[in-house]
Amino acid sequence: MRLLDLLLPVRCAVCAAPGGELCAPCLASLPPLRPPLCERCGAPSAWPVARCRECGGRRLAFATARAAVAYDARVRSLVAAWKERGLRGLARPAADVVAACVRARPGADALVAVPADRERALTRGHHPAHQLADELAARWDVPLLTLLERPVAAPRQRGLPSSERRRNVARAFRARDRSPARVVLVDDVYTTGATASAAASALRAAGARRVEVVTFARALRVG
Ligand SMILES: [Zn+2]
Ligand SMILES: [Zn+2]
Repeated sequence: MRLLDLLLPVRCAVCAAPGGELCAPCLASLPPLRPPLCERCGAPSAWPVARCRECGGRRLAFATARAAVAYDARVRSLVAAWKERGLRGLARPAADVVAACVRARPGADALVAVPADRERALTRGHHPAHQLADELAARWDVPLLTLLERPVAAPRQRGLPSSERRRNVARAFRARDRSPARVVLVDDVYTTGATASAAASALRAAGARRVEVVTFARALRVG
């Protein structure tokens, strides 16, 4: 935490109202993702479907993905504050929202957080996915295991052809140990599903039979 943050009053990460890290009106206005959803990837759909346009035809290593809120502008500033400033106080309300929306209380053997890339973990020391997983582990009474690591600094993806990007993402994670059979993989934001799938694939290579992904927010495909 920067010295400045200690001197200034705590402000809401979304609207900057003084008081707490997330004020009650902003908490109440987070856009929930409600069914009907795609059974597999959790994208909102007009009616319940087993696969949708977003995930159909893709090889995804996880069985299902669910998120609590849509990744809109407010949620983006919330997640940015959580990441950049390490607002630990945001983990609890985020976990409350996740636990309320995602009625997972999954029949899982363990929770695993998607690890930050090494460079980020070193420079920031704040990791929303891990904080969220920690809060959820307590709520669901499921152990949190630090099973995954990122073996090398993630290569720059910009400008690479998509086949090469996919290959890089697939090699981004490694399991430190054998994985239990049923795992819930926790991350702060689900964007394309590529990261979640790569992490799930590392868990499955280590023995997981079923991986369910749970995130705080989910990017919505336009159109
Ligand atoms: Zn606010
Ligand atoms: Zn889908």
